[in-house]
Amino acid sequence: MHLLVTGGAGFIGSAYVRALLADPSPDAPRVTVLDKLTYAGTLTNLPAGHPRLDFVHGDICDAALVDRLMADADQVVHFAAESHVDRSIEGAGDFVRTNVLGTQTLLDAALRHGTGPFVHISTDEVYGSLDTGSWPEEHPLAPSSPYSASKASADLLALACHRTHGLDVRVTRSSNTYGPHQFPEKIVPLFVTHLLEGLKVPLYGDGRNVRDWLHVDDHCRGIELVRTKGRPGEVYNLGGGTELSNRELTGLLLDACGAGWDRVAYVADRKGHDLRYSVDWSKARDELGYRPRRHFAGSLAETVAWYRDHRDWWEPLKRRGAG
Ligand code: NAD
Repeated sequence: MHLLVTGGAGFIGSAYVRALLADPSPDAPRVTVLDKLTYAGTLTNLPAGHPRLDFVHGDICDAALVDRLMADADQVVHFAAESHVDRSIEGAGDFVRTNVLGTQTLLDAALRHGTGPFVHISTDEVYGSLDTGSWPEEHPLAPSSPYSASKASADLLALACHRTHGLDVRVTRSSNTYGPHQFPEKIVPLFVTHLLEGLKVPLYGDGRNVRDWLHVDDHCRGIELVRTKGRPGEVYNLGGGTELSNRELTGLLLDACGAGWDRVAYVADRKGHDLRYSVDWSKARDELGYRPRRHFAGSLAETVAWYRDHRDWWEPLKRRGAG
């Protein structure tokens, strides 16, 4: 079996690829990664020279290249995206291009070649903000940022491709993900690497925004369940089960780095900042047996230790473009 993985040099895509390649069974898939290597992607995330891995440096909007790769693939797992909300507020063009146009380019090619399942990786942010309770998959989409609006557009195009043309599309919508190899612009790696460098960390507004945290290994396990056991045309929420305000998370990261609250700089709130995200992941639990296995406190400590031990990984990335 041959899997095309887009965005496989980024944070979650590379964790997914490393997990697939670590599987020693004879029927483990061969993987082709298609990645543009934007500021967020790096080959240092992938096991160079692995016999079951091919890397193609390219753009998911390049229809000819995508067509050629799709012709040779049995299935697709589509991670490639512009993924940082703050950058989408600065400028939405790249988000619309990659997240919307790039997704449609892949869907068109998958349709031509009958490639499926096509697992489209999306985010809980497409639902917008909610005060209480958790969103089920059928909740209407109400994205707030250009990032989440572009992801919602891509979700709808993917689902429309199933409904209209019958392509085996499956969509995952997941919580905020943390773990090793995350580009140091998102809150966990940004704060940890700033603290390790002796800098202050920028906390938005009053820090009361709440996010549900999902370890990258659990996220990848959920994606694999959707790919192998999910149903065509279905959406699966994948949650982590640990809701924290940004202020609570900051306190945990300060403690883990041996720093105090004097290292926090309060900055103006993000424009349009969603207050709370929370997905109801009972569908993935009941249908696929999904359940996050990672204990948050231990996994956060392990993540902090990884950044402490891998300055050679993040220092060059931070110099080349962290926010
Ligand atoms: P990331 O920014 O770390 O990685 C994105 C990867 O896509 C990079 O390797 C980049 O080079 C590549 N890429 C970007 N534009 C491309 C293009 N035009 N063509 C080919 N490759 C391109 O992102 P991530 O955090 O690993 O997120 C992966 C997916 O998961 C995204 O679709 C994101 O929306 C979704 N997601 C992320 C989170 C999270 O908390 N990080 C949570 C839920 C869902």
